[in-house]
Amino acid sequence: MPNFPKLTFFSALFAAALTVHAGTDEKLLAAARAAEPAVISSLREMVAIESGTMDAAGLLRMTDYAEARLVALGLQVERRKTGGSTGDLLLAQAQGSGRRKLMLIAHMDTVYAPGTLASQPIKLEGNRLYGPGIADDKSGIAVVLHALAILRDAGWKDYARLTVLFNGDEESQSAGSGELIAKLAAEHDVVLSYEPAPAKSMAKEEGVLLSAAGIATATIKVKGRSAHSGAAPELGRNALVEAAHQILQTENIAKDIPGAQLNWTVIQSGKVRNQIPDQASVIADVRLNAADAAPRLLAALQAQAAKQHVADTEVTVSLDIGRPPYVGGARTEALAKRAQAIYAELDGRKLMLHPGTGAGTDAGFANRSGKPAVLESLGLAGWGYHARDEYIELDSIVPRLYLSTRLLMELARD
Ligand SMILES: [Zn+2]
Repeated sequence: MPNFPKLTFFSALFAAALTVHAGTDEKLLAAARAAEPAVISSLREMVAIESGTMDAAGLLRMTDYAEARLVALGLQVERRKTGGSTGDLLLAQAQGSGRRKLMLIAHMDTVYAPGTLASQPIKLEGNRLYGPGIADDKSGIAVVLHALAILRDAGWKDYARLTVLFNGDEESQSAGSGELIAKLAAEHDVVLSYEPAPAKSMAKEEGVLLSAAGIATATIKVKGRSAHSGAAPELGRNALVEAAHQILQTENIAKDIPGAQLNWTVIQSGKVRNQIPDQASVIADVRLNAADAAPRLLAALQAQAAKQHVADTEVTVSLDIGRPPYVGGARTEALAKRAQAIYAELDGRKLMLHPGTGAGTDAGFANRSGKPAVLESLGLAGWGYHARDEYIELDSIVPRLYLSTRLLMELARD
């Protein structure tokens, strides 16, 4: 149990935070503490509903659950289809008396196949509550639901518009929800995104996230000419050889483009040994961390495509942007600093600002217009997502509730 000394340390630290401290909103903190058992119950209930990203029946049950919870908060809730992908989307709204428009986002789907719960059941162990999808992203939904319950009980109405969006297709690239997230986010002043934060057992402190990669697919297609590879190879135009040439000459192409990363991962070409192949296609996994990286990368690939090795072949390049990058910039940093100041009210509790991650997030869609200020990773601290033995850290519940409620109150007053 190598974690034990550290966990004891953090528990002790947090116990100290519960004593009176200058600047602390004692009422909110008391409400956050009182809500802790209910958050744990909500987490247990949600993890018990398996909702893997392509599991339509499970997602339906999860959506029913979340819808009922949002309705109980007094929000106007509508359910929307998300095009071809499975997983509906919940859009909940309220009008207040203030001037600021605030939006909260989290996702209901997990990466786990139905039945995972049987081999990885919910279990409590020290400071950890385990369960598939408990951190990513049922912890985000729990924090949103319980933070809003605390604020409702406090009579909070200082916003102009409050929007909550829970999607059910985040783990399949938000294919059906991304555009709506981008559109709605552009109508708001602030978007808070509730993906989990790294566990303290991995990252030392709880934190928030300042940027995340965009994900794209680069494709090169080569058209050649087929011919008998034994009798008349000179009549052919070998698409496979040209594709290999293109791969080699673009292997390091992203090195000169800040915020771009490219790796060729898939190739498809001829089917039989004795025919010069007339077609080939290659696919690269592309990660983008700067707004202008995509057009620059595409232009560079196209310039190379013109430099062919096999005469009379036709080379075309495309770049399909899946999830846009989340590059928050100065306004995200300002939000993160406010979050740090709020954490500091918990007897100096630290909040890490994680500069970036290679994983994608819906904060990328929310941030795309450049209109709202966006902050990511306001869910609970946890680990093991997209892996095994996923867990959240229980001692992050009260601080995260305090952070969200306090931050929303401040943002509404701006
Ligand atoms: Zn997630």
